[in-house]
Amino acid sequence: MPPRKSVADKLKKPLQIILFVLFFAGGTLYYFIIGETKAPGFGSDVADYEVAGIEFHFLDVGQGDCSLILCDEYAVLIDGGEYENGEYIVPYLKDHGVEKVDLMVASHRHSDHIGGLTAVLEQMPVSEILINPDGVSEDVDSLAEEQFLSVAQEQEVTMTIAEVGTVYDFAGLHLSVLSADAQCAQENESSVVLLAACDRTTALFTGDISEETEKSLCTSGKIADCDILKVAHHGSNYSNSDDFIRMVSPEYAVVSCAADNAYGHPGAKTLDRLQNVGATLYRTDQMGTIAITCFAEKTSIYINGKD
Ligand SMILES: [Zn+2]
Repeated sequence: MPPRKSVADKLKKPLQIILFVLFFAGGTLYYFIIGETKAPGFGSDVADYEVAGIEFHFLDVGQGDCSLILCDEYAVLIDGGEYENGEYIVPYLKDHGVEKVDLMVASHRHSDHIGGLTAVLEQMPVSEILINPDGVSEDVDSLAEEQFLSVAQEQEVTMTIAEVGTVYDFAGLHLSVLSADAQCAQENESSVVLLAACDRTTALFTGDISEETEKSLCTSGKIADCDILKVAHHGSNYSNSDDFIRMVSPEYAVVSCAADNAYGHPGAKTLDRLQNVGATLYRTDQMGTIAITCFAEKTSIYINGKD
């Protein structure tokens, strides 16, 4: 006859099962609630990064693009407007404690994007350049491209041609190239599309892509909700398609363009689509330079240095 079990012994097994179920359910809940919200929509590889704060600056360079990401002691500069915009960009960088650009991204080779980068290269150390592929497109701004490449060569800066899957990590800031098509006929479409992600924020930089590239991004499975969108091609109606904007569904949308520009940027349709997804719109033509700083406690917006 087996020895009689005490009440405590009888309860041991069910208790173990309950504890196991609770542990499993708790872990699953943690993954879905905490794990998923850390980096919404962009996979678990960015969930482990933690940074004290990250800053996204959108510099007013008139009809052009110029974005700056500051994270820890690292500086990433994406595009630089026209050459003369260097007069504004270089002091701006220095005022924000930047003595060296760790990564300079030339989204594509038109003068309103790489012109000012040439000026920055002439005046400041740059560790590496990431540039779109020199593909089959023929509408390249050859003079601006030539000047940029020749200064980069003079300064002996490492040049990396972007391709899908190129990644960088800077102290909690994870950058990945989502598109950089060498086969498109239009230079704009070959823009480097860059996703910047840290533990609490994601920002998407789209260069001057239009609907064609947006369509392939939508079907690629790489696009999901993000916090900040640098609106494509200065807000053109031929970019920022409904499906793409819905998929990105940004909280903050930044349009970089000049007041009363000849292209009618930003287009009314683009503005409607952004409004439909509830994005808060910021425009350099109306507000000047915009900075979005994301810290654990709060996100602050600075318009021309004032919040
Ligand atoms: Zn442009």
